[in-house]
Amino acid sequence: MKKQFLLMGLLASSFAMAQKSAPVEKFASVISPKELKAKLSVLAAADMEGRETAMPGQKKAASYIEAFFKKIGLQPGAGEGKYQMPYPVFQDSLSKSEVSLDNRALTFGTDYALNISSLANGNWTVDNIVYAGYGWQDSTHNSYDNLDVKGKWIVVLEGLPKDIKAHPYEIYKSTFNKINIAKKLGVAGIIVVMNHLQNHSAKGLKGNMYIKENKGVATPLLQISDALANKILQTSGKSIEELSVVKTGDYATNLHVELEKITNHLESSNVIGVLPGTDKKGEYVFVTGHYDHLGKRDSVIYFGADDDGSGTTSVMQLAQAFVNAKKKGFGPRRSMIFMTVSGEEKGLFGSEYYSEHPTINLDSASVDLNIDMDGRIDTERKTPDSTNYIYVIGHDKLSSDLQKINEAENNKYTHLVLDYKFDDPKDPNRIYYRSDHYNFAKKGIPILFFYDGMLKADYHQPSDTVDKIDFELMSKRAQMVFYTAWDIANRDAMLVRDIPLN
Ligand SMILES: [Zn+2]
Repeated sequence: MKKQFLLMGLLASSFAMAQKSAPVEKFASVISPKELKAKLSVLAAADMEGRETAMPGQKKAASYIEAFFKKIGLQPGAGEGKYQMPYPVFQDSLSKSEVSLDNRALTFGTDYALNISSLANGNWTVDNIVYAGYGWQDSTHNSYDNLDVKGKWIVVLEGLPKDIKAHPYEIYKSTFNKINIAKKLGVAGIIVVMNHLQNHSAKGLKGNMYIKENKGVATPLLQISDALANKILQTSGKSIEELSVVKTGDYATNLHVELEKITNHLESSNVIGVLPGTDKKGEYVFVTGHYDHLGKRDSVIYFGADDDGSGTTSVMQLAQAFVNAKKKGFGPRRSMIFMTVSGEEKGLFGSEYYSEHPTINLDSASVDLNIDMDGRIDTERKTPDSTNYIYVIGHDKLSSDLQKINEAENNKYTHLVLDYKFDDPKDPNRIYYRSDHYNFAKKGIPILFFYDGMLKADYHQPSDTVDKIDFELMSKRAQMVFYTAWDIANRDAMLVRDIPLN
């Protein structure tokens, strides 16, 4: 026994020696502006059609990434010898909508519209409706004071009470919030009075995609014009603001709503390539990015060059760097899992699916390094001396090793300013919860998330294109992720998990 221990000890230290003398900078150099640009130009080209989840463009992008993983010699990581891990996606579409008031048929798009986030199925005759003003509840307001809405249909106004000073985004969000408030109160149906009805045609109306079949009954949700609201509330010609002072409570009505939807079964995938480790191959390092984007609307393509073509390209190039190192005899001690996921823009689908159907024991994952946008400069940085940066999110969560390692590698090689702004608990953007790493963090895996901060400018616009990418800066950032991954893959111990996620 002893001898074997001694032998193993010798082996381990010779690995450590080998890693110390590895020409890491040479391996990192393949993460070059030229290589990144070549790949991103394919991923964010027009024929990828914006890579929308479950659509042909996403499938084309998946094939491209798969072919690359195969070509450089990564092993298939999705199980059963496959690189792609398929997962089901559902999407409802409207097949029938008939709404009438006082036996007069209402017109879709003029009188009413449907909120695509929640298509319900059913047939309702409503003879009593509760008007609840703005339908708002917080520490200062309660529109539901003295109202009994359980099991009833309600009418609420779009927007917020005048004395709540809110950013337009907050007002937009408030519709979602008030729907949730109403659902919690147990209403049977929700009608929101809109300033402008957004849907102009019922034909082909599709709901948001989802991956878990909703066993519960969806609450029907209609949007109506202010003219129709006046009819229901027995007023005339009042604007939304004027309606806000109309008495709340029960109103007799004669409303009939009939909705029918069909559920379409679609499919998307994560693309996974593995580079087996050497003496610690039962432990893992994840490098992730999402390859899906928003697709096209009418004929306008949302190219998603930065979001997240840049992260996807970076993951591919990190894989190339690790493969090259292994060919020279410097394979990583831990196994590397390079995974590009889809469904991120729809609600972190791919990473959620993976975290619930993992290909490895997640307790043996040391870290997930996630890149979602690393090719641009955020709009607030105007002087050249301020642009040598990357936002690092998660540095103070789950593991006290994360910051130490990431900073040490960056100080040694890449000298970027690591900006922890988004880790401030007071930051309203809640970035930590908004990309795929969160599904790893939920399972206890320490994560670092690298991000360029592009929330304004061309974020989620058709103008997020390749020509706006700063490839020099992107390569420096991706190299920084590489050095960090290299360290974590080759150090003696896995990262400690010593900080609870809150
Ligand atoms: Zn993204």
